[in-house]
Amino acid sequence: MATIQLKAGREKSVLQKHPWIFSGAVAAVNGAPLIGDTVDVLDSRGGFLARAAYSPLSQIRARVWTWDENETVDVNFLRGKLEKAIALRRTWITPEEHGAMRLVNAESDGIPGLVVDQYDDALVIQVLTAGAEAWRNGLVDALVELTGIQAVYERSDVDVRRLEGLPDRAGAILGDGPWMRIIHENGIKFKVDLAEGQKTGFYLDQKPNRKRILNLSKDREVLNCFCYTGGFSLYALAGGAKHVLSVDSSADALAAGMENAALNGFSSERMEWQEGDVFNVLRKLRDQARQFDLIVLDPPKFAPTAAQVERAARGYKDINLLAFKLLRPGGLLFTFSCSGGVSPDLFQKIIAGAALDAGVDARITHHMEQGPDHPVAVNFPEGAYLKGLVLQVS
Ligand code: SAH
Repeated sequence: MATIQLKAGREKSVLQKHPWIFSGAVAAVNGAPLIGDTVDVLDSRGGFLARAAYSPLSQIRARVWTWDENETVDVNFLRGKLEKAIALRRTWITPEEHGAMRLVNAESDGIPGLVVDQYDDALVIQVLTAGAEAWRNGLVDALVELTGIQAVYERSDVDVRRLEGLPDRAGAILGDGPWMRIIHENGIKFKVDLAEGQKTGFYLDQKPNRKRILNLSKDREVLNCFCYTGGFSLYALAGGAKHVLSVDSSADALAAGMENAALNGFSSERMEWQEGDVFNVLRKLRDQARQFDLIVLDPPKFAPTAAQVERAARGYKDINLLAFKLLRPGGLLFTFSCSGGVSPDLFQKIIAGAALDAGVDARITHHMEQGPDHPVAVNFPEGAYLKGLVLQVS
C-alpha cells in the first residue's frame, strides 16, 4: 500500500483523531497512489498513524478512514459505518417523523465526503471527496441493502467537488422520476424537489429551530428572510401568525413556498411572498416604517472559508442591524449563520455590534444549532457549521 509520511511535529491532530491531513503536514508520498486510493499515514519515524483516502489535488491531502491498523478499508468496512450511522438516527427520529432526515453526515459519521438524506421513500446522496468517489458504487449498493429503499438520486453538483478535481454529477442512480416527495415535518407538509431543489432538496438541518417558531407566532406579524420554500413561514402560519411576509431571491423557491402553503390549507390572506434581495428589501421596509413581532434571518453561506470572513461579517451585520430596527418592543429575532468560517463567538460579536448600532437593547434567549441527525464528531469541530441566536428586544 502507498504511504504518506508526515513531517515531524505535524502528527498531533491525527493522534487526536481529527480526520483531515493538510498538504503542509506531508513530508513525502511513497508509491505513487492515485486519486481516491487508500494510503497508510505514517509519522515522521515511519510508525502507523491512520489509513486514509488520498486526495492529491485538494489542500486536504488525505481524509482518515480508520486509525486502526488491523482494519481493512473495503466495501464491508464502509457498510459497517453506514449501518452504525443509520442505527444511531433511531434515537432522534420518531417513527411518525420518518419522512425526512439526514442518514449519513460525512466526517461526523466516519465517512468523509458522503452525505445521505432520506425523503420519504427516496435517498439523495452527495459524494463530495475523492475518497467517497472511489467507493461510490459500493456505498450506494450498501445503502440500498440497509434501507430497502429503491429510489436513489445523486446531487454531487456542488462547488467543493472542484477542489478535489472531481466534475459535477447529478441524476438518478436507481428508480424513476418524478423526483418529488412530500415530507411531513412536525405535522407540516412540504413538497421537496430532489432533482432541482437547493442542496439535496430541503434544509433538514433547521428542523428543530423551525419547530421553535410554532409556539411563538400566535397573532404575530412575521418576516421570514431567505425563506427558500417557506420552511419557517409555514411553521409561523401553523402556529397562528396574523401575517407572514416571506422574502427570497429565487422565484422557484417562492413558487414552491406558495404551493406548500396551499398544500397545508393556509389561507392566502395571511401571507405575502416577495421576490428580491433581502439587503434591499429590508431597507425598503425600514423606509416604509414597517414593524414586525418576529423576524427570521437564515441567509446562505456568506463565508465558506476563513478567507471571506471579513466580507461576511459586514453582510451579517448589515441585515441584522436592519432587522433590529424593524422589530416592535418585545419582538424576537431568529438569526443564523451557516458559514464554517464564522465561529459562534464571532457571530455573537457581530450581532452585538448590530444591536449597538441599531440602538436597541437586545438579549439572547436561546442558542441554536443544527439538528441531531446532523451530529458533530467530537474531534471534528468543523462539523458544527450552523449557529443561531434567538434575541428579544425591549
Ligand atoms: N430558511 C430556509 C433555508 C434558507 S436557505 C428553510 O428553512 O428552508 C437560503 C435562501 O436564501 C435560499 O433560498 C436562497 O435562494 C436565498 N438567497 C440567497 N441570497 C439571497 C439574497 N441576497 N436575497 C434573498 N434571498 C437570498
